[in-house]
Amino acid sequence: MKRVAMYPGSFDPITNGHVDIIDRGLKAFDEIVVVVATNPRKQESKSSLFSIDERVALIQDVFKDEPRIRVDISTGLIMDYARDNGICAVLRGLRAAGDFENEFMMASMNRGLNPEVDTFFMVTGHDWFFISSSILKEVFQFGGSVAEYVPPAVLEALEKKRS
Ligand code: ADP
Repeated sequence: MKRVAMYPGSFDPITNGHVDIIDRGLKAFDEIVVVVATNPRKQESKSSLFSIDERVALIQDVFKDEPRIRVDISTGLIMDYARDNGICAVLRGLRAAGDFENEFMMASMNRGLNPEVDTFFMVTGHDWFFISSSILKEVFQFGGSVAEYVPPAVLEALEKKRS
């Protein structure tokens, strides 16, 4: 049986930090579904730059040569998505200490909702521990270069937004 994990997040936009987690996750799972999930704390806020459809298209573009990656959208509970889509695990990335508390609460809550699906954490790659979509958006909006931190397709999309 295929081991299919989901990697949920806002991905506004996908960064090299996310790509690193996905690439390494593919060593542990047969397939990964990257799920652009609406985050009630972030989604409707002014800080969102790309629409959900744009985010999905960017992730699909980044992984166009990787048949083991699928991209989807979820507006509900992650655990409902997992149950309905044959998902065996949730993949999450951990950066510095700041991520831990929130991730710990979310993983515990999710396990309460569905004990069959566990959360797997991967520690961020050395080069990306300080990268978040929000900080990149901030730097970019003030005219800074983020070329090192995002895949080329994302950089192009960011530049289109600027012009
Ligand atoms: P959220 O919307 O939950 O804050 P994001 O969309 O930013 O999450 O990211 C989804 C997942 O990717 C989360 O588990 C987050 O911790 C992880 N992640 C984000 N940026 C990085 C990075 N630079 N290195 C490793 N993991 C990351």
